[in-house]
Amino acid sequence: MTQKPIPYGCQHITEEDIEAVNAALRSDYLTQGPQIKEFEDKFADYIGCNYAVAVANGTAALHLSAMALTVKPGDKVIVTPLTFVASANCVRYCGGEVVFADIDPATYLLDIDAVKKMLEASPKGTYQGIIPVDFAGRAVNLEEFRKLADEYGLWILEDACHAPGGYFIDSNNDKQFCGNGKYADLAIFSFHPVKHIACGEGGMITTNDEDLYNKLLLYRTHGITKGSPAFPYTNSIEFATGGYKDESEYPGWYMEMQDLGYNYRLTDFQAALGISQLKRADKGLERRHEIAQNYNKAFEGKSYILGQSGDVEGNAYHLYVVEVKDRLNLYNYLRKNNIFAQIHYIPAHLMPYYRNLGYKEGDLPSVETYYKHCLSLPMFPTLTEEEQMYVINKIDEFYAK
Ligand SMILES: *Cc1c(COP(=O)(O)O)cnc(C)c1O
Repeated sequence: MTQKPIPYGCQHITEEDIEAVNAALRSDYLTQGPQIKEFEDKFADYIGCNYAVAVANGTAALHLSAMALTVKPGDKVIVTPLTFVASANCVRYCGGEVVFADIDPATYLLDIDAVKKMLEASPKGTYQGIIPVDFAGRAVNLEEFRKLADEYGLWILEDACHAPGGYFIDSNNDKQFCGNGKYADLAIFSFHPVKHIACGEGGMITTNDEDLYNKLLLYRTHGITKGSPAFPYTNSIEFATGGYKDESEYPGWYMEMQDLGYNYRLTDFQAALGISQLKRADKGLERRHEIAQNYNKAFEGKSYILGQSGDVEGNAYHLYVVEVKDRLNLYNYLRKNNIFAQIHYIPAHLMPYYRNLGYKEGDLPSVETYYKHCLSLPMFPTLTEEEQMYVINKIDEFYAK
């Protein structure tokens, strides 16, 4: 019997999820309805932050965040090269310059010492912000990054796409959950099907900063406001009514486009799926931990393992990454056996687009060495014990040859 294909990541859709989407489809609102605010409130509760803004996808979340943080042509932003390219692209959308700094080979996260060196080597004011990524689900120590950022007047945008429910332990021994807004100015999440919570497409921005929150709401819908304490109308009542000065209020149709924004809204039926998925988020996280422990045990002392993504408390295990000998042949061997392990990621600075902006091989040695050996093994809540054993056995089998 041939093994059915095992992907590296996969969504989990239950009957309850389907019912939730059906109910939204039968309601009065397909978009701009009540599910959005409910999803935002529940997600903010889950993450432990004050504000959440639901958007069309994680990339839109990054773009709006870069806008809210006022990235503009000439601004320099420090970004990890070990990420999905969108983490860096958001700076380019706003005309800013991406400056990649290397990873720490032990954690696979943006290396704070590399960042420090870059900051020290230039006059203050050279850089405007930092975009670290909680890569593979391992939380960046943002307390340390905040200290450094404050010293140099930088903002922090945390790309937490891999890490809803992940945390690091701060210097007070407290758990600091990814995206909780304590140290980063903004954090973003994605609800693409391979991520922890699936909406089909979807994203979220979280923050504790009320001004940034209000800006994000404006930018999410074209920069249009219907008049609010945060964005009062600026045109006169005479203009709005067409000259009927006795109108006591602005008429119902009236709105203003006060800034240049986008349509980056999430729909209500996607939000309904998100709300339903969020209920199972902790269960999924637990299962990810079991799977990680099984891999850890299986690979203990194995000479073909050169490194792995971090058996640390608070890891949300979006990915289970190992660095292995003879990676290409193992990858092909697994594929032949219907196991679709994946590579995360080709370093962003070596994408042709960023090469054209001046990056080249050798610029960031740690991430380039990592890329030669890395492999993301199947990691998703519905991966069965049997499937995981099959994966582990096939890996052992490959190296026994
Ligand atoms: C998935 C992902 C994104 C982009 O999210 P989309 O919803 O696909 O636009 C950005 N950054 C990281 C680290 C991601 O994993």
